[in-house]
Amino acid sequence: MKNTRSLNILRQAEILMPGGVNSPVRAFKSVGLSPLIIKKAHESKIYDVDENEYIDYVMSYGPMLLGHGDARVIKAISDTAKNGFGFGATTETEVELAGLVNKYFPSMEMIRLVNSGTEAVMSAIRLARGFTKRDKIIKFEGCYHGHSDSMLVKAGSGALTTSIPSSAGIPVNSSLDTLVAVYNDLETVKDLFLNHKREVAAVIIEPVAANMGVVLPKDGFLEGLMDLCHENDSLIIFDEVITGFRVSHSGAQGLFGLKPDITCLGKIIGGGLPIGAFGGRRDIMEYLSPIGPVYQAGTLSGNPICVAAGIATIKAIEEDDAVSKANEASQYLIKNLKDEIKGFDDKITMNGIASLLTIFFKGRDVNNFRDVMKSDAILFKKFFGIMLNEGIFIAPSQYEAMFLSSKHSKHDIDKTVLAIKKAIKEVLC
Ligand SMILES: *Cc1c(COP(=O)(O)O)cnc(C)c1O
Repeated sequence: MKNTRSLNILRQAEILMPGGVNSPVRAFKSVGLSPLIIKKAHESKIYDVDENEYIDYVMSYGPMLLGHGDARVIKAISDTAKNGFGFGATTETEVELAGLVNKYFPSMEMIRLVNSGTEAVMSAIRLARGFTKRDKIIKFEGCYHGHSDSMLVKAGSGALTTSIPSSAGIPVNSSLDTLVAVYNDLETVKDLFLNHKREVAAVIIEPVAANMGVVLPKDGFLEGLMDLCHENDSLIIFDEVITGFRVSHSGAQGLFGLKPDITCLGKIIGGGLPIGAFGGRRDIMEYLSPIGPVYQAGTLSGNPICVAAGIATIKAIEEDDAVSKANEASQYLIKNLKDEIKGFDDKITMNGIASLLTIFFKGRDVNNFRDVMKSDAILFKKFFGIMLNEGIFIAPSQYEAMFLSSKHSKHDIDKTVLAIKKAIKEVLC
């Protein structure tokens, strides 16, 4: 595989940008390879600056459910741009996007648009604290909710009640208000509620976890969690930044028939452009400024070009039934892989739902972060390298999902299955 141009750009990038990237996972550190420098992408394919072609299962880490470069979205972006890039005042299209979100997420009775998933979560948490007049938040080990201080927290060793920052630069004090529970383990949540009676503003969760690899909620787990929240007068926040418009049109809450108090969205609702949204019960949302006491703002919030891309994406998803198409692609992949990995039950676990999939290099069940951490990083590293050589781009980390799109063809998947088969044989045998 040619890589002269990529290596040249990488050298300059590493001088000018920390790690040569604007988001850490892109540096390929955990797989020890030099990162891809991308030139363009089309439908299910992505191309680096050396003209190498890959079938893309990263899909910008989720937004591209329609595949890359959907003509309807391109048209919406260019038509909108002709009329100006931003105004600092409300546009009709913001109301239209809020209406579309509300149509699919009726639990989001009122909506505020922001610029990223991180911002959506950060603001939702402030809102929950303002509304309940409590400070503590419960999150789950291995769930990712963006990079705001209070969400970059891990369980300390020893007692479940201590948490510590998972990044330098975060005041220890800001981590003390975030309590960490174990995914799929209601007992750990009960303990936290017991130890912090009437102190917990909200519990935040990825209703399908996709940032420690894909980990599915066990039957009854989310329902039990919501009951615990109600019993304790705490709010439940669903972070559906990945799952929204993917695991169903109405996200995980639609799929499982649940109604959270607050929901965070991002990724797909911008169709690849930067956006985020949070929304929920009207009485809670009315706590937001300018009508309530919880301050939140954004110069570029509701940016007309991002909003146009979002509207066009959601409409195109409706028109194509893209959720089902991506699901079918995923099902076809899983069906064909199952036979290939039959003999490796003790070494590989495949977790998948809808168009999300992770192959863990760990035998049998993967139900929480502790299970995930038992997967074999060295095997994953080898696996990733072989896949890339075969022209398949998956995220360079065991802790990410494969994202399928409505544009992944049978032909793409047949090629992918052959590559996975080859990679697994080489890695495990
Ligand atoms: C990606 C993601 C975020 C953060 O969104 P950004 O746009 O990267 O800030 C938050 N929560 C979940 C579940 C995500 O997958």
